[in-house]
Amino acid sequence: MKIICVGRNYLEHITELNNSIPKEIIFFLKPETAIPIKGQPFFLPDFSKKIEHEIELVLKINKVGKFIQEKFSNKYYNEISVGIDFTARDIQNKIKKKGLPWEIAKSFDGSAVIGKFIPISELNKNKINFSLNKNGKTVQRGNSNQMIHDFDKIISYISKFITLKKGDLIFTGTPFGVSTVKKNDFLEGFIENEKLLEIKVV
Ligand code: MG
Repeated sequence: MKIICVGRNYLEHITELNNSIPKEIIFFLKPETAIPIKGQPFFLPDFSKKIEHEIELVLKINKVGKFIQEKFSNKYYNEISVGIDFTARDIQNKIKKKGLPWEIAKSFDGSAVIGKFIPISELNKNKINFSLNKNGKTVQRGNSNQMIHDFDKIISYISKFITLKKGDLIFTGTPFGVSTVKKNDFLEGFIENEKLLEIKVV
């Protein structure tokens, strides 16, 4: 199983990080070990002073696919959730300047928190509201209609380079509002009004 994450897919988030709008879809990978052990909190790593939350819609791939045409992408996923792409922003900023790979900022243990999956058929996939609460207050709010590249385009593009397999997870980018997490923060992720994820920071 692999975790594939799309970056820079929401305009206001690109602006908040002073990034440029990419011409092509940007993606990177996290290993399976990025998913926290069930029931465990998020452990702040000691190598970073600035861990930020990125709430994202996450698709679960339901069958193997390669060179998937965009018009058939919807046959490759039927479940969705929210996830948190935890990012060591201080490290990412340093390595971005040097043009180095992002893994140490993005793919460390615990950096891919995944919520409970629900059938996508219950939702209008082009208009899914999702949000993140930090200590009871909403800090990030997004809608799938704000994505620069939609689900079907993302799946088609990734599958040109990497074979998708059943169980693979695709993080589809974060909206505006990322912020630093600190010890004892409590994070909750929602699709519409349904809570699918919660985790404590320690
Ligand atoms: Mg992200």
